[in-house]
Amino acid sequence: MVYKCAVFGCKENYASGEKVSIFKFPKDPKLSKIWETRIMRTNFKPTINSRVCERHFRKEDVLRETECFDEKYGKLLKSPLQYPKLREGAVPMFISYKCPTSSQPAMIAYREYPSKKRKRLEDKLVQKAQQASIFESVNAYIKRVTFNNLDELK
Ligand SMILES: [Zn+2]
Repeated sequence: MVYKCAVFGCKENYASGEKVSIFKFPKDPKLSKIWETRIMRTNFKPTINSRVCERHFRKEDVLRETECFDEKYGKLLKSPLQYPKLREGAVPMFISYKCPTSSQPAMIAYREYPSKKRKRLEDKLVQKAQQASIFESVNAYIKRVTFNNLDELK
């Protein structure tokens, strides 16, 4: 049986899609409840056949190798897991109607944020300058603000 991802709208692991790792719902009922609320489906009750695919987890929460300490040789041994495991307590983080094709949705959100904030800040400064209603000083103010920003950019 091919398990399909329970997240609403996720098409991973369907015959046409890329093969991805999938994970069972956690045994811990509290954690399982968190998963239920994260997958964007109403009246969903997980069963033993319910799965969530790796696309919804942070990379660092998906463990692909196992480590054990070899006391005889004093070395840390790593071996790849046949089936990746989830870090304990991991919850689905990336949920959208479409699975993120880019693996770093958090980074994209982060990049958009500062420019929006800066634009708001600039609007505020211009407004403030306009309220002063002295044309000359507004120009000087805007020039100074622009200069400051350019300087910061460098
Ligand atoms: Zn999925």
